[in-house]
Amino acid sequence: MVSWHGFINTCYICGYQAETMDHLFFTCAYSKEVVKIVGQWIGIMLPTQHFHEWSLRRGQSKIRIDVINVVFNACIYHVWRQRDLSKHELTLICPEKVAATIVDEMKIRIKRCSMKMANTDKIWIRGLIDDAN
Ligand SMILES: [Zn+2]
Repeated sequence: MVSWHGFINTCYICGYQAETMDHLFFTCAYSKEVVKIVGQWIGIMLPTQHFHEWSLRRGQSKIRIDVINVVFNACIYHVWRQRDLSKHELTLICPEKVAATIVDEMKIRIKRCSMKMANTDKIWIRGLIDDAN
């Protein structure tokens, strides 16, 4: 982000834009690709900059809001991790692989979840953790 001498660094991932929070998590082509793939898996497609509003959409059940929030946090965490890897080790895993890692981790977490839920949510959850997906 802002370095010790007060300048904003260039994005460590794409190398093109200033590295603001907004850029890194919402408008960087890399993050957009991660979010797009994860969004396809979870079945909710919105422009990246509205990612954080996914859970605010009306008509979402509590379980869906919880899942979406966890997925959102995982995307933030993994993009940040890639940013650090890129900064300190000059390596960057492609967005497709990062998205696949997020989806795998989320499937494990969702499988462990034992909340009571409506049948429509059960069907949604089953679709998410189906390994053919
Ligand atoms: Zn960038």
